[in-house]
Amino acid sequence: MTATGVFEGMDAGGHEQVVYCNNPRIGLRAIVAIHDTTLGPALGGVRMWPYDDGDAALMDVLRLSRGMTYKNALAGLEHGGGKAVIVGDPAVDRTEARMRCFGRFLDSLGGRYITAEDVGMTAVDMEYILQETPWVTGTHEYRGGSGDPSPFTAQGTLAGIRACLRERFGHVDIGEVSYAVQGAGHVGTELISRLRDHDARVFVCDVDPERVQRAVDEFGCVPVDEEAIFDTGAEVFVPCALGGVINPETLSRLRCDIVAGAANNQLATTADGDELHRRGIVYAPDYAINAGGVMNVSLEMKGYSAERAHAMAERIEDTISAIFERARAEAIPTWLAADRLAEARIAERAVLRSSAPATPAGAIHVPSGRG
Ligand code: NAD
Repeated sequence: MTATGVFEGMDAGGHEQVVYCNNPRIGLRAIVAIHDTTLGPALGGVRMWPYDDGDAALMDVLRLSRGMTYKNALAGLEHGGGKAVIVGDPAVDRTEARMRCFGRFLDSLGGRYITAEDVGMTAVDMEYILQETPWVTGTHEYRGGSGDPSPFTAQGTLAGIRACLRERFGHVDIGEVSYAVQGAGHVGTELISRLRDHDARVFVCDVDPERVQRAVDEFGCVPVDEEAIFDTGAEVFVPCALGGVINPETLSRLRCDIVAGAANNQLATTADGDELHRRGIVYAPDYAINAGGVMNVSLEMKGYSAERAHAMAERIEDTISAIFERARAEAIPTWLAADRLAEARIAERAVLRSSAPATPAGAIHVPSGRG
């Protein structure tokens, strides 16, 4: 892609800054995309992926960083959206040198972008990055970090499910209805455990049979085949695995009242979100209901408190309710109501910043005692 093409891509998405990081001797190629810092320094994960070429990496980082702006805005965070991608195969390219080199590039941005673990990265990689820059979240507890975000993501998802139950059934009794959980990984298992605490009937599937067996043995779930998860008849379908799971094929099979789960990018296209709306299926927009994890890591920049993170995750119930209210008021699908709420918060903050002397965006204290 030409430089003009990059600018056009940035214009189309409304991106502020794209930074290419290249060190041929170390073998690092990375791109940082800062989408919007109206609400504060950009926060979003770094993923390693074997992209076919630089254009594919750019398109992905532009898309992901924009998504983080919306997610952080709806989560009520003082952070804008950003994301980083490292071009490479996680199975062979995750070396200390590459990670530290990436950390140095991040450091040169002076905190305009704060990173976290994403697909293809591990806690060890984040430790290496932290050796070179303080602008890292989601590190281990012994570093003053917040550790595994999954319990907070699951807690927030459960809070969002309560809002869905109220919307659809007029009650918030988790145990009254049944759930079909797709994916018994980190978040899925945490969520299953909470659903079973309420004695809910839970169907579970996973491509990994051991994970299904653990859900059966430890929590008393009902195992189903991967494909059968759409046909259980459970009132709530809970995607906790893949993106794109709501698509024309699955829509023709789903018989649920509610779709509410932690997986990112659940709608293959927004038209599928429109179709959920048309069918009267209550959909909790993914980036709103799964924000417990980013809420948790965001607190590291201010001095981490698990208690505060739990309280923030509970607030997702109100966020999801507010989305439903707006969707009803404007007779629009919930995915669109979520986008509009996020855009409204950013627009209001932009007005506030332009009309009153305030702390400049990007001004945040450098975390001390870490690294
Ligand atoms: P994970 O990798 O631990 O779990 C995903 C599980 O899904 C795995 O057990 C995997 O075997 C299973 N899976 C994959 N394909 C499947 C299929 N076709 N059918 C059934 N199961 C399948 O990941 P995670 O951390 O639990 O995250 C789950 C989802 O939630 C992802 O989409 C992730 O992006 C999203 N998410 C996670 C967090 C978090 O805090 N971990 C935060 C926000 C969003």
